[in-house]
Amino acid sequence: MYHYVENVVDTNDSVRLKLNVTPSEFEAQLETLKKEDYQSFWVKEIPNLTNQRIQLPEKSVVLTFDDGYRDFYEFAFPLLKKYQLKATVFIISDFIDRNDYLTSDQIKDMIDSALIEIGFHTLNHAYLKNTGSETAKKQIFESKTNLEKKFNVQILSFAYPYGAFDEQSIKLLKEAGYLAGVSTISNTSQSNKNLFYLSRMRATNYRGVDLAQALDML
Ligand SMILES: [Zn+2]
Repeated sequence: MYHYVENVVDTNDSVRLKLNVTPSEFEAQLETLKKEDYQSFWVKEIPNLTNQRIQLPEKSVVLTFDDGYRDFYEFAFPLLKKYQLKATVFIISDFIDRNDYLTSDQIKDMIDSALIEIGFHTLNHAYLKNTGSETAKKQIFESKTNLEKKFNVQILSFAYPYGAFDEQSIKLLKEAGYLAGVSTISNTSQSNKNLFYLSRMRATNYRGVDLAQALDML
């Protein structure tokens, strides 16, 4: 689970610093994944892997990026192309074309690359746990169809903002036709039982940690 991939300019922006991996750190991580022979998948492919409709390679990874920040297009996307690794980017539909967020043209370009899956991250980054059913429905359904039409893709993956979900949001995800939902539960194992609250590991700069060794311990 990545958020920002950039060289943070504002050293007072502690949230950004905490969630950031610099482009050179990110490249080193991709290099390691390639060298260690990891196969990359999209979130929407996870059900096929857990159902064994796709053979699960011994070393598999799913790279996800939350919020649809513009730095993804500037820094992460070119590196993913260079190393030919797939990724899923979770977009907040109301934030497209806003300052600091991906533009419509950038999203189109990413879709055309056939390397990037576009997933949905609600209308405006809403907290979905214990919320009214109308609000939750609006956040999960609304603009899914519009986005699908606009970009001519099917949106099949969902990320809960703040990792906040409940039974109601899971039910709505299924009704809306999503195949999978990701949480922020920290774990590396997935199964058919948690397809709508898949676990993720927060990517950091792993300073002082040998990444190849860390991957071996997973
Ligand atoms: Zn988010």
